[in-house]
Amino acid sequence: MTRAEWESLCDRCGKCCLHKLEDEDRGKVYYTNIVCGLLDFDSGQCTRYAERSQLVPDCITLSIGNIPQLHWMPGSCAYHLIAEGKDLPEWHPLCSGTPDSVKAAGVSVDSYAIPDTEFNNLEQELERHIIEWLE
Ligand code: SF4
Repeated sequence: MTRAEWESLCDRCGKCCLHKLEDEDRGKVYYTNIVCGLLDFDSGQCTRYAERSQLVPDCITLSIGNIPQLHWMPGSCAYHLIAEGKDLPEWHPLCSGTPDSVKAAGVSVDSYAIPDTEFNNLEQELERHIIEWLE
């Protein structure tokens, strides 16, 4: 798979850019509706993609090698689906032919996410912002 093909798997939903809380005792990760301030809501892409690892040290670079260990990735994520040998959903841009289908299907975080730049004390807010997806 080329780099471009790998990148095209990302549907730009923005879910992995949401802040998360981990319960280490239960081995469970909770997503919140607070998203990294670098996410561009229109495109669903990182505004500082090339330098994101320096700007956000815990931002993980996805690879074929680490996807199987990232059990907390959203169930709808193409990388997660591919790792499990599943098909891409019909709303995925590679199937629909348009990136608009992600928002139309309600998969994008753009309708509910709040940028972390809007909070003065992010750590204190996270628990109040836990969400759950149905998929
Ligand atoms: S959750 Fe997966 S498909 Fe969605 S933005 Fe993140 S890497 Fe891309």
